[in-house]
Amino acid sequence: MPDLMLTKVAKSFGSNAVLHDLDLHVRDGELFTLLGPSGCGKSTTLWSIAGLHSPDRGTIAFGDRVVFDGGRIDVTPERRNCGVVFQSYAVWPHLSVHDNVAYPLKLRRVKRPARAARVREVLELVELGHLERRYPHELSGGQQQRVALARALAHPPDLLLLDEPFSNLDAKLRERAREWLRALQQRIGVTTVFVTHDQDEALSMSDRVMVMDQGRVRQVGTPEEIYHEPADEFVADFVGSVN
Ligand code: ADP
Ligand code: MG
Repeated sequence: MPDLMLTKVAKSFGSNAVLHDLDLHVRDGELFTLLGPSGCGKSTTLWSIAGLHSPDRGTIAFGDRVVFDGGRIDVTPERRNCGVVFQSYAVWPHLSVHDNVAYPLKLRRVKRPARAARVREVLELVELGHLERRYPHELSGGQQQRVALARALAHPPDLLLLDEPFSNLDAKLRERAREWLRALQQRIGVTTVFVTHDQDEALSMSDRVMVMDQGRVRQVGTPEEIYHEPADEFVADFVGSVN
């Protein structure tokens, strides 16, 4: 799987400049977290990577493959092959667990027997093999998010993009979900960009963290570096470093 590289990515909504020449480098196989307060541009960054909206300027590359170049190149979301899990609209209520997970494979015209086998495999991976025939309303919030994750992984993505996937879970479940996701990510080795405004979540599960503030990068580093050597007062305040 390739590295992900954003170079001088800028994005405004009307007169609201949301991303200011953002640079970002995620290494192959790592769990990289975008951390920052609400409204700082985390989701906009993730959506730009997935191709769900286009920046005004800048370059986005998956390894050698440029997927966005100032609008000259703008590869469609399908061809970027990112698995995305959003905070809220997680799973389709009218489809069974099986059909939710099978959907992206159907879109890609994977034949029925191969599809069923892959759905089973990926549901085992998220420990929901026994719930294949259920409907979302019969599942807990945590289980529904695991269905969303299974759907994102069904057609093996080059990049997994997770936008505050645990924010609707209660505190205890959220902590368990972190550990569980971290273990799964390491097991399958998928390059992952994780978005959160929760500093504990970011520091406890990431290989590296990027702290953002108003569309700018404040610091990139390991959780230890961010916590013990915050680059400035904003980072120190935000992650609650004592110094
Ligand atoms: P975060 O995910 O860090 O909370 P967002 O990327 O969602 O931040 O939003 C950053 C800024 O961009 C906010 O000021 C938000 O209001 C604005 N914004 C995000 N999406 C849109 C949109 N589709 N249209 C207009 N403004 C938007
Ligand atoms: Mg957001």
